[in-house]
Amino acid sequence: MPDADIIHKGGCFCNAVRYQVMGLPLLSAYCHCTLCQRLNAAAFILTIHFPASRFSWTHPEPYNDALESYAVSTKPWKIRWRCKQCGCTVSSYNSKLDKWSVWGAQLERDVEGRIKDWDTIKPTAHVFYETRMVDVQDDLGKWAGYEGKSEKLG
Ligand SMILES: [Zn+2]
Ligand SMILES: [Zn+2]
Repeated sequence: MPDADIIHKGGCFCNAVRYQVMGLPLLSAYCHCTLCQRLNAAAFILTIHFPASRFSWTHPEPYNDALESYAVSTKPWKIRWRCKQCGCTVSSYNSKLDKWSVWGAQLERDVEGRIKDWDTIKPTAHVFYETRMVDVQDDLGKWAGYEGKSEKLG
């Protein structure tokens, strides 16, 4: 599939906030960092990064009417966006790197409940695995930090 034909749609729990991302991701990984754990109340999440030009909001304009933004004090350059109505965080924008991140669990599903075009977006690694809450037995590499830029743990 040509890169420009790959489009994934996603959004919040109540659907008031919607977005789409185009093309292949820069990074797709299961993240076990403590920020992701706390933000999602989950053991780990699927984080997917795109260049800023590949992300767009798709719910009715003006987009910001449906959105709230916030940043944690330790990462003020990373703005997280959430739905005003249901409170779900759906994406974050990193102004240092000019990249958007979305979460795989919020992407559009097929009739069987699986994420559409999974092969174009599936994760390549487990990152920040040192702070894991659960051991994962799969074929993906396990890294202390980002894939290829930190100690490989398994
Ligand atoms: Zn919502
Ligand atoms: Zn994380």
